[in-house]
Amino acid sequence: MIPSILPTYNRAPLCFETGEGTWLTATDGSRYLDLGAGIAVNALGHANPELVAALTEQAGRLWHVSNLYQIPEQQRLADMLVEKTFADTVFFTNSGTETAELAIKMARKYWYEKGEPDRIEILTFEGAFHGRSTGAIAAAGSEKMVKGFGPLMPGFRHLPWADMAALKSAISERTAAVMVEPIQGEGGIRPLSDAEMKTIRQLCDETGALLILDEVQCGVGRTGRLFAHEWSGLAPDIMMVAKGIGGGFPLGAVLATERAASGMVAGTHGSTYGGNPLGCAVGARVLEIVSDPAFLAEVNRKAALFRQKLEGLVAAHPDVFEGVRGQGLMLGLVCKVAPADIVKAGYDQHILTVPAAHEALRLLPPLTISDDEIAEAVRRLDAAATQFDSAPSSV
Ligand SMILES: *Cc1c(COP(=O)(O)O)cnc(C)c1O
Repeated sequence: MIPSILPTYNRAPLCFETGEGTWLTATDGSRYLDLGAGIAVNALGHANPELVAALTEQAGRLWHVSNLYQIPEQQRLADMLVEKTFADTVFFTNSGTETAELAIKMARKYWYEKGEPDRIEILTFEGAFHGRSTGAIAAAGSEKMVKGFGPLMPGFRHLPWADMAALKSAISERTAAVMVEPIQGEGGIRPLSDAEMKTIRQLCDETGALLILDEVQCGVGRTGRLFAHEWSGLAPDIMMVAKGIGGGFPLGAVLATERAASGMVAGTHGSTYGGNPLGCAVGARVLEIVSDPAFLAEVNRKAALFRQKLEGLVAAHPDVFEGVRGQGLMLGLVCKVAPADIVKAGYDQHILTVPAAHEALRLLPPLTISDDEIAEAVRRLDAAATQFDSAPSSV
């Protein structure tokens, strides 16, 4: 008999009742150190008092009004995002996959309005993850996600990951856009180098193709900059944001330049909940906190500490780990055993991590994680890894 919850997830037998900072408490009272943070969602930890205050203050006043009307909380968050980023304009969604939908629509509409309605092709990369809507699975194109769901939306071409030669030969004056994650999340914490980011931007500029960056996982302070692309000193035309921006409240946003967004006039897109006052009130508080240079400096300091300890962990378990990759507090331990097995062993040590493709174990703690919690996380990962060692060893 089919379960009452559609069985599309492989769930661990863990159930949490409360959370505080980097910790989750299970129904049996035991505490877990959370290095997954709802997959990079709880950017400021669980039950962050400032976010609880922002949410409850708004909840006592007004939960929802339609986008038929002005929404001051939405206006405020949009103004903040425009002030702090490359963007001139913002559309709010409830999730990451909805940002993929709008990014695709916006790119196509741009060329349609420019009198090139056939310029619809969007180039994407192997290992990409842009969400689970029909458009987003067509964009990413992996067999695992698309099988059985055809016919797929046409107009995507999938290139080998980070293959600049392939991009160079695929991109042309017929290309509508290039869509890419600066650091692949589900794809295994695989970063593009600054040089690769610059090449992509340059090839887009030469052909006129729009650059869509998917910062749903790597954005909002995760890498130690407000947005990951800032490390390479360039800007996209369209950017997808979700996960961390709501700190746990469902919220996403598409940010765009005036030029890229020029086709999106009244009536071309919409969402009932998108830009809802509750989500925007929380999002504004998240953005205020995360965009503070002192906060980002702390993320970078802690990231360096974490990375150094993880290098020690890798050295102590040469049969289990191969290395560390990623940036800021978006880190991947490259594994020599199945990452899912280490995640399971982590449950026994009461630490939560997330598996990913390409042999990576993802570590995506709340950005508010403390130095002590970093040390404790590495101790627990060490204990979890020990059972996979062929010779006994320790950090
Ligand atoms: C999670 C994710 C998405 C999809 O977000 P949902 O909120 O699950 O729809 C899209 N892109 C990237 C890079 C993601 O990590």
